[in-house]
Amino acid sequence: MTPKLFIDGTWQAAARGGTIDVVDPATERVFRTCSAGTADDVDRAVTAAKRAGQGPWGRTTGRERAVVLCAIADAIEREKQALAELEVRDNGKPLAEALGDISDAAYCFNLYAAYAEELDARQGEAIAVPDDRFKTTVKYVPAGVAGLIVPWNYPLLMAAWKVAPALAAGCTLVLKPSEFTPLTALELARICEEAAVPPGVVNVVTGYGNDAGARLAAHPDVRKLAFTGSVPTGIAVATAAARDIKSVSLELGGKSPIVVFDDADLEQVVEWVMFGIFWNQGQVCSATSRLIVERGIAGRLIERLVEEARKITIGNGMDEGVLLGPLVSRSQYDKVLGYIEIGKQEARLASGGRRPPGFDAGYFLEPTIFTGVPPDARIWREEIFGPVLCVAEFGTEEEALTLANGSEFGLAAAVMTRDLERAARVADRFEAGVVWINCSQPNFLEPPWGGMKKSGVGRELGTWGLMNFLEPKQITNYLSPAPWGWYLKG
Ligand code: NAD
Repeated sequence: MTPKLFIDGTWQAAARGGTIDVVDPATERVFRTCSAGTADDVDRAVTAAKRAGQGPWGRTTGRERAVVLCAIADAIEREKQALAELEVRDNGKPLAEALGDISDAAYCFNLYAAYAEELDARQGEAIAVPDDRFKTTVKYVPAGVAGLIVPWNYPLLMAAWKVAPALAAGCTLVLKPSEFTPLTALELARICEEAAVPPGVVNVVTGYGNDAGARLAAHPDVRKLAFTGSVPTGIAVATAAARDIKSVSLELGGKSPIVVFDDADLEQVVEWVMFGIFWNQGQVCSATSRLIVERGIAGRLIERLVEEARKITIGNGMDEGVLLGPLVSRSQYDKVLGYIEIGKQEARLASGGRRPPGFDAGYFLEPTIFTGVPPDARIWREEIFGPVLCVAEFGTEEEALTLANGSEFGLAAAVMTRDLERAARVADRFEAGVVWINCSQPNFLEPPWGGMKKSGVGRELGTWGLMNFLEPKQITNYLSPAPWGWYLKG
């Protein structure tokens, strides 16, 4: 049976009855269908969310919301195996990675439970003002109905990054997952239902971006939009937000550099560079897809990377020991293959670049390395979002920084060197929201996450993520019994 939409605490059929085929990227076979919600369904969901926000949920304390968030976290942790397996079939990623994602999602709900409790202590905090006849305090009120639009690369985790802080803040929400990976968002809806989240507080509408997504972005009763996805869609969402002056946060694409100096530990570099580009089949917004390597170490490093890339076990994410699963969809596969053809004209293909032998079905691709990539090449400038590493060499630190920062994106950047003073200097000059020293991609949920330049607007995670869903309200109180005496002199 086609799963329905979760609206106002009930499972409702999509108004127009459309469906989406959910394809297993390892087999290219449809293994589920789900509802294609449209603008009418989004309207019902937003109405329910608005009503729920005006009801008791809007008056809950952070502590009360923390109880709900912890219940969601517990359920995710309890159902970890089943959720991870669903994610593998939906997205293609190896099971070990999916299990990590689900644990992180549970952790995210627990973390925002703690922040929700801390918020109670900050309500009414005094702000020092330079006139002691006045007392000024700040209260943090929920931003209202939140529209949450997420991509397919970390389906449940990206949803958790938004649903958890929105609930912690006291918002009500409508979540629209990617049409390519809608299933774990529906499981999250069921978990919220079982955790006694009041009707209308969490609504999940599966559907296509240009229909359900566009309506959610444009709906006048949505007061806060949190979007993760590509730059073109980010522009459409920000444009829709501008029409109603909605608050908006955007987590967009990237083309992140990893700069390797001669003095770095070669084997450490090999591991972090490979993890930085082949993890999740390279479908990671912060993937360090541009390797910028000092000339002295370049030859040896490329040789080792090619050697290790050829050893990577490719296969169905459900199989033991697989490190590289299929790409998520036919369209993503064709897009990445298209970039590989372009790359062959622009640089030297050192490894990979084709469907691995023996794989007749599934969106499988060998880990791919291009060397000698010039800075004006399309494969150097544009986000490929696949297991494709582009390598360029440098002679001086200044040259390395020019290459690293020469991008319209600014999500993440990494530097590998034993010289920690140099590492700190380079880290300071990277134009990126996230910087890694002697590593690539480790991500904790407490620090801020987000990008500069075209990689986005605002920050998620940590307390920054919570503030996205709150409106600080200033309350200034005149305490003196004497007339103020500035405007009317008496
Ligand atoms: P996408 O922009 O195609 O889709 C993202 C979401 O937006 C989907 O739910 C989609 O249905 C919806 N959508 C599409 N058109 C819409 C419209 N007109 N109005 C409203 N919603 C619409 O992106 P994707 O292909 O799903 O994801 C890959 C992109 O996401 C990459 O560029 C990647 O870098 C980025 N990403 C960024 C981060 C980050 O934290 N910065 C994290 C993960 C992914």
